[in-house]
Amino acid sequence: MKELADGVWHLNTIVLPNAVNAYLLEDVLIDAGTRQSRGGILRQLRGHDVSTHALTHAHPDHQGSSHAVCEALGIPFWVPERDADAAENPDLIRERQPSHPVARFYIKIFTGPGHPVDRKLHEGDEVAGFKVLDTPGHSAGHVVFWRESDGVLIIGDVLTNMDQLTTIPGLHEPKSYLTPDPDENRRSARKLASLEPNLVLFGHGAPLRDTKKFVDFIDALPA
Ligand SMILES: [Zn+2]
Repeated sequence: MKELADGVWHLNTIVLPNAVNAYLLEDVLIDAGTRQSRGGILRQLRGHDVSTHALTHAHPDHQGSSHAVCEALGIPFWVPERDADAAENPDLIRERQPSHPVARFYIKIFTGPGHPVDRKLHEGDEVAGFKVLDTPGHSAGHVVFWRESDGVLIIGDVLTNMDQLTTIPGLHEPKSYLTPDPDENRRSARKLASLEPNLVLFGHGAPLRDTKKFVDFIDALPA
């Protein structure tokens, strides 16, 4: 794992670097890739203390190995309040997605088993020195993790820094067919632009340290 900021480590959860990311914030694992990611995640975490697993949102490429990792490490599972039911019962993930062939394929291939939620996360909660912010749209309960002291933002899928189909780098809104409410997601993105983060860490794509590029991209989104 690579340390990207003080106490913030990056994990790859599939073979292609930065394509499906997870992060270790101090001793809290944020996101857990697809259901194929278990071995890789546990290997990368070796030698680190991990006390908790939390999600940005309960989608298949973030909750895929949540059950396996929580079982293997014997750690609690923290999920944003309005995604907690879907994290426990992944049938709800499918029900809440737009009906689209790519979405159906992605759900079928990547979704992991449900796992009991030990704590529901709310706006303002603190996790490993980061503050939880509600950013719904890409999922009902999507949250980000924000550390104001050095401007580090774990953004989940509010934006991606890679095209999720072609994997070509660049800032994008998440695919509309994987996003139940794109308008609400855009409002969430505007809330994050106002933070002017110094380092943005995405669910998909490489880290971004260019605050202006991030803010300009969001400012240029259609109203
Ligand atoms: Zn994702």
